[in-house]
Amino acid sequence: MSRNFILSLFVGFALLAAAPLYTANPYYIHMIGTIMIYAILLFGLDIVVGYTGQVSLGHAGLFGVGSYTAGVMFMKLGAPLWMIIPASIGITAAFGALLALPALRVTGPYLAMVTLAFGTIIQILINEMTFLTEGPLGIKVPKPDLFGAKLTEHGFYWLVLVLMGLSLVVVDRILRSQLGRAFEALRGSPVASDCMGVSVYRYKVYAFVISAGFAGLAGCLYAYSEQYISPNTYNFELTVLFLLAVIMGGRKTRSGALLGAAIIVILPKLLDDLEMFRQVSSTLAVLMLVGAIIGVARKITTVRTMAIPVVGTMALSAFSFWLQSITDWRLSIFGLMILFVVYYLQDGIVGFFRKLFSSKNARSVAYLAPSDAKDAIHRASNAQHSADGSDMVVAKGVLMQFGGLKALNDVDLVVKRGTIHGLIGPNGSGKSTMMNVLTGIYVPTAGKIEFSGNTLVGRTSSDIALSGIARTFQNVQLFGEMTALQNVQVGLHHTFDSNLLDVALNTPRYQREDSSAVERGMGLLHFVGLSDLATEEARNLPYGKQRLLEIARALALDPQLLLLDEPAAGLTAPDIKELIAIIRKIRDHGITVILIEHHMDVVMTVCDAVSVLDFGQKIAEGKPAEVQANEKVIEAYLGAPAA
Ligand code: ADP
Ligand code: MG
Repeated sequence: MSRNFILSLFVGFALLAAAPLYTANPYYIHMIGTIMIYAILLFGLDIVVGYTGQVSLGHAGLFGVGSYTAGVMFMKLGAPLWMIIPASIGITAAFGALLALPALRVTGPYLAMVTLAFGTIIQILINEMTFLTEGPLGIKVPKPDLFGAKLTEHGFYWLVLVLMGLSLVVVDRILRSQLGRAFEALRGSPVASDCMGVSVYRYKVYAFVISAGFAGLAGCLYAYSEQYISPNTYNFELTVLFLLAVIMGGRKTRSGALLGAAIIVILPKLLDDLEMFRQVSSTLAVLMLVGAIIGVARKITTVRTMAIPVVGTMALSAFSFWLQSITDWRLSIFGLMILFVVYYLQDGIVGFFRKLFSSKNARSVAYLAPSDAKDAIHRASNAQHSADGSDMVVAKGVLMQFGGLKALNDVDLVVKRGTIHGLIGPNGSGKSTMMNVLTGIYVPTAGKIEFSGNTLVGRTSSDIALSGIARTFQNVQLFGEMTALQNVQVGLHHTFDSNLLDVALNTPRYQREDSSAVERGMGLLHFVGLSDLATEEARNLPYGKQRLLEIARALALDPQLLLLDEPAAGLTAPDIKELIAIIRKIRDHGITVILIEHHMDVVMTVCDAVSVLDFGQKIAEGKPAEVQANEKVIEAYLGAPAA
């Protein structure tokens, strides 16, 4: 965090804290309080929507669970605030888990439908369970006692401010930690996450449960803030508003969540007041025009892309003066705003202004010179399983069938510990399929595979990864929006024992693990020659460097076996030389390598043994030179019998 950022945060808090002192109007105090309460929910929702990339239409329901936990505990038990707050968080998180465990087995539209159904069911339950919730009558919740005295409006406002500040800090810490990296990684590339030992399903559920906890806290505070709760607050419109707020404010930023909260609190009020609506839509049109002019002048956008939004906001402003009454148009205007955001503001308002006004934000990493590349690539402890000639991978009769196609047909493969084992064959011969079978992405139709004596068939990719098999991908699978260093740190996920509490409280254990992950991550980047690009987003790296970064990330797993799928594809000749040196060094650290490669010179120089596949069958095996001279192999590559 930069000093400026902390300073502006501090000023923001001071201003908010002083708000009750410069406006005596309780209406505004209540409104700002509501914005802060919604912001707490949106911090959490952003974890799910912005970071893991899942859509939840269930958050109004979770918000309701939080409110009703507070309401019921107060009404039935007369419980005090210090009990109600943790209970609301805990119970809502439990409901979140109940929703997430089945729901997150599906994705996309199905997930949206399941969460929507959940929200509806919650609303119905609140309505029907009158013995607990008083049903449609609702529950009255007076302002709570704190330290033996009843909180005033202002006292409660400050309590909300403090809890909002705490939520901000905790969410920020979570998102900077290995947990946040896991959330972002599973969105960037689910298959790569699983293969780095970060179980996609588990961390999706985790994100959802954390997010539900924040919804619970927000719901609880909302009950006290309104002093009355009833079922129809927690409806479909609210859930859509929450999503709109996250996307419109700007996903993956806390300021975006605050801005989004302000918009969804103020917007409905705005749409109730025609005069104000006219003023705001005119201001918006002017701002849009100015923004477009700056954008075009700075060549960030073109006249063509800006024409429709500029004309659109102007038309909206003209429309507002033509309107006589606004109430009938409320929902249409919401709908238009959603369309607008989806087409023109995909990074949200905060994202848009960032792009407009900032040059590249150079983040700096505190970096200690890598003590020794040897340490970085492999913690010495593992180095003893170097070449002792024993079998590391033993595959027998592996069959992988896709419909009628046998991508692998009765393949036997033995890979000796400490060797570089080449896997070659024409395109479509089943090489990548073999890797996918070895890493649990596909479950073979038949056959046995053992790794260091343990069977691999039927285990999940993340489990296999954690047992010591790392890989790269034929078509690069990096976490594009994350920096090079963060990509490698995802591979280091297994080095963290810290839990959510350690992260939230920033305990010494977490600090130790975190700084060790930075150091090792930088060491690994150094090993593949990328330390200068540590803070660059992976998607901005040149193709050759992306391949090297994938290798560094795979090494972070501390693997015994490394699978490389065409690492030299697309590399220039000098890069290939460097790659050969790197592969050799990896072997010298005692890591066994399976290498799929089309560049024969690479295969011939580095491999200790080579297996050749053709149409899913193994047609030859042996030392590189033998294989190269084998007639069947020449035939397979040339597509005709050798002379
Ligand atoms: P290689 O890596 O040797 O070029 P692959 O292992 O990628 O070949 O593919 C082997 C064969 O299996 C190809 O014919 C390919 O089309 C087929 N194949 C691979 N994955 C799938 C899949 N998920 N579904 C259907 N067919 C597949
Ligand atoms: Mg392939």
